[in-house]
Amino acid sequence: INSKLPKVGTTIFTVMSALANEHKALNLSQGFPNYESDKKLNDLVAQAMNSGYNQYAPMAGSLDLRLAIAHKYELLYNKTYHPENEITITAGATQAIYTIITAFIHKDDEVIIFKPAYDCYEPAVKINGGTPISIQLSAPNYKISWEEVSSKITSKTKMIIINTPHNPTGTIWSKEDILQLQKLTSNTNIIVLSDEVYEHIVFDDAKHYSICLFNDLKQRSFITASFGKTFHNTGWKIGYCCAPKSLMEEFRKVHQFNVFSVNHPAQKGIADFMQDPQTYNGLSEFFQRKRDLFLNLISESRFKYSPSHGTYFQVLDYSEITDEYDVDFAKRLTIDYKIASIPLSVFNNENMDDKVLRFCFAKTEETLIKAAEILSKI
Ligand code: PMP
Ligand code: GLN
Repeated sequence: INSKLPKVGTTIFTVMSALANEHKALNLSQGFPNYESDKKLNDLVAQAMNSGYNQYAPMAGSLDLRLAIAHKYELLYNKTYHPENEITITAGATQAIYTIITAFIHKDDEVIIFKPAYDCYEPAVKINGGTPISIQLSAPNYKISWEEVSSKITSKTKMIIINTPHNPTGTIWSKEDILQLQKLTSNTNIIVLSDEVYEHIVFDDAKHYSICLFNDLKQRSFITASFGKTFHNTGWKIGYCCAPKSLMEEFRKVHQFNVFSVNHPAQKGIADFMQDPQTYNGLSEFFQRKRDLFLNLISESRFKYSPSHGTYFQVLDYSEITDEYDVDFAKRLTIDYKIASIPLSVFNNENMDDKVLRFCFAKTEETLIKAAEILSKI
């Protein structure tokens, strides 16, 4: 077979969750909550199923849901996205990201990706004939050198993918970072794909700077979002993207042929749920309590860390414990110590010597306490 992705195997999320199940290990690897989503939301979806929302949704998504999203951008960011032609509902953020890249990347176009990077960006670029251009960030701060970014922008640069709050490192972009991006790309046609799936999960009173807050960037950017992260139901696979009309038109040309439209009753249920303006409140506090519990309980362990600033992930440095390659250590922890995590090298990380693992703390207190007990003994 003439593979389009010859170096790609099964994603580490599938591999580690399967290994965790096989060895009956605590699964802090793949990012998903081990508790239920809000019963009120579940009931609203059931209600939608029982009241006639069982056929195709409109191609761009349920209008109710697009209206609710537009309202959210007005409320939180004081920015306008028109529900009619600037918001599209997708099968999770993954499908939005794949579709954006497919709609805009031609052969040999360059796409700048900050590493470590969420794993779905690079394969989507490659499958479309584009060339990923890496900017490697380093532990423990993962600071961006804007001089380096500037040196990598060429006449072939078509897109820059950013992700804040950042999976896997839990870092967030400062206002200054976004202003630098704006400055370097002003007067260009470079499209920014801003993956903001963790926008509602930021800690210690930090602020999430959405790309939409910066007018010059907003006019050539896509924002991708995921209800799975916000409403604790990753299995529903519903998300959306926003962009100016001219970009969204191109997006929908592809979207209509790779999925057409997505799960209708879930869209209706989420739209009804979002009528309550409190919907997003308290999410940061909810996850910060989990982060703090986890970190306090492992403070005496041999793992080193600086607290995550956002997302529901915490990276831990294990360099005081062993020299092992991170994939080997993550597998050994799962099999011998019964705790699963994700090695950072799989995020297309080029710093192969980093001794860092990612742990998901979207878990019950009971699970976090058990996990910390194990980690404290290693
Ligand atoms: N981007 C990032 C940074 C993510 O962490 C995830 C999910 N882990 C996604 C995109 C994909 O989201 P979804 O599950 O909605 O496809
Ligand atoms: N986004 C989730 C994570 O980072 C995993 C999603 C998936 O399994 N593809 O763990």
